[in-house]
Amino acid sequence: MENKIKDINDCYTLNNGVKIPCVAYGTYKAADGKSAEIIRTAIEAGYRYFDTAAFYHTEEYLAEAIKESGIPREEFFIASKLWKDDMGYEETKKAFAETLRNLQTDYVDLYLIHWPLPAPDYKDWKRLDLDCWRAMEELYEEGKIKAIGLSNFLPHHIENILEHCKIKPAVNQLEIHPGYSQEAAVRYCEEHDIRVQAWSPIGRQRVLKEELVVELAEKYHVSPAQICLRYSVQRGIIPLPKSSSMERMIQNQDLFSFEIEKEDMYRLETMPQAGWSGEHPDRERVYFE
Ligand code: NAP
Repeated sequence: MENKIKDINDCYTLNNGVKIPCVAYGTYKAADGKSAEIIRTAIEAGYRYFDTAAFYHTEEYLAEAIKESGIPREEFFIASKLWKDDMGYEETKKAFAETLRNLQTDYVDLYLIHWPLPAPDYKDWKRLDLDCWRAMEELYEEGKIKAIGLSNFLPHHIENILEHCKIKPAVNQLEIHPGYSQEAAVRYCEEHDIRVQAWSPIGRQRVLKEELVVELAEKYHVSPAQICLRYSVQRGIIPLPKSSSMERMIQNQDLFSFEIEKEDMYRLETMPQAGWSGEHPDRERVYFE
C-alpha cells in the first residue's frame, strides 16, 4: 500500500474503510492574524486534508476558506479534536456540536480526543476517556463523524479504550519527527491497525539544524524539512506540516521524488533525542531555554 503513495492526496484506508490522504496541512497558528488568508493559500497549494482543533481557534477560518474556494465540501478531509476542558459524555456532544457550527458543515471526516488526560494528576482518566469515546461512537453511528480516533495516547491509554470500545480507534496523532521517533507507541498502533499521524513533523523547526538531518538533506538534494516529512511518509505515518508561505507549502509536498535509503532511515530513527516539544500526556509540560 505504502508503495502506491505518490502524491499528498493519495490515500490510506483506515480500519473502518474510510480513505484518508497521506499528508495533511496543520492549522495550529495558521490564523494568528485572525484571517483565513493562510488557509486559503494552503487550499490553492493543493492541500485537501486539514487538521484543526477547537483549541486552535482555526475552525471558523477553515470554514471560510473552504467556502470561498468554491470546491465542494466532499473533496476535503476535515479533522478536528475534542479539547481537554470539554471531556465527558455530555460535554463531548456539546463540544462536537460547536465544532460543526464553527466548521459550517454537517459532518467531520475525523474527530479525535486531543489528550488522554485533562491534567497529569487527573486520577480518573480511564473513566473520562471512555465517556468521551462512548459519545464519539454515538456520533459516528449517527453519521456525523466518518472516523473516530485519538491524539497523544500512549499504549497504556489506548489499552483502556480497546478493552471497552464498540468501535476501534482509527488513528492516533503523536509528536513524531527525527529525534523523537515514538518507536514503542508507533509499533503498538501498527499491531492494532491504528494509523499513526505525526504532529510537529518538522519539530517546529527545532530539528532543522541537527547534524544528521542537514547531512541527509545535502545527500538527497532536498531541504531539511523535506527529510523530516519524508521520514514520516516512509514509516507509513501521516505528517501534518504547518507553514505560512506558498513556497514552503509547495516544498513540503515534494516528498515523492526521492527515497531515503534503509540505512539512513535507521540512523534517523535512532538519533539521540532532539527537538522534543516538552509535552507528554502523563507529565507537567517542560519548558526549555
Ligand atoms: P511543524 O509543522 O513541525 O512546524 C511548523 C513550523 O515550521 C512553522 O514555524 C513553519 O514556518 C516552519 N516550516 C514549515 N515548513 C518549512 C520548511 N519547508 N522549511 C523551514 N521551515 C518550515 O509544527 P506544528 O505546527 O507544531 O505541527 C503541525 C501541526 O500538527 C499543527 O499545525 C497541528 O495541526 C498539529 N499539532 C497537533 C498537536 C496535538 O497535540 N495533537 C500538537 C501540536 C501540533 P512558517 O509558518 O513561517 O512557514
